[in-house]
Amino acid sequence: MASCAGTPSVRTDLAQAKSNQVLTKKEQSKLTPDDVIGILKQGNEEFVNNRLTSRNTPDRIKAAINGQYPEAIILSCIDSRVPVEDVFHRGIGDVFVARVAGNIVNTDILASMEYACKVAGSKVVVVLGHESCGALKSAIDDVKLGNISELLQKITPAVHSSKTGFQGETSSSNPIFVEKVSHSNIALAMSEIRKNSPILKEMEARGEIKIVGAMYHLQNGKVDFLEDR
Ligand SMILES: [Zn+2]
Repeated sequence: MASCAGTPSVRTDLAQAKSNQVLTKKEQSKLTPDDVIGILKQGNEEFVNNRLTSRNTPDRIKAAINGQYPEAIILSCIDSRVPVEDVFHRGIGDVFVARVAGNIVNTDILASMEYACKVAGSKVVVVLGHESCGALKSAIDDVKLGNISELLQKITPAVHSSKTGFQGETSSSNPIFVEKVSHSNIALAMSEIRKNSPILKEMEARGEIKIVGAMYHLQNGKVDFLEDR
């Protein structure tokens, strides 16, 4: 494929994706996973710098009636301090968002990701952790409470692996340890996705999607995309 001929149209689609309009199927299909990561990074920069625009206007609502072609699916914790669409300066029709305490992966989350990427054409799976996560602290403290106990078991392997080689107190009152668990928990989720979803693993191997980890900082709203493997 001649890159010279392809470049202008990709640029047009990128501009479209960054603009305040709903993506069409054609525009979505021309975005690469790296394009989408770039869009999310730029959106977060706009959020951090207080340059948010209104994305859920009546025009946009109407434009999205006939279908959705989101760029990405973002797995986030339920934490109310992490408003996912705002964090990436996205609105109606832009991204799928799956939310569950501790941003853990289970069968239903995997199915949602498979739908987003294989059926609806999204290019990126983001596992978005955040600082000072109550679910992670509860897993570190081995809290037992109703259905929460079962959810926390999905975080426990990240707690155990974080203890290996850690110098210092391995408790929820040590923010450095909690941060290490946050990173391990994101890595665990990414590994679960690749292990338990052959569909997503194959799409990633073909370069059709990227699976990435990211960390949200409560102090300033910044998202850091994490190096993988
Ligand atoms: Zn959380």
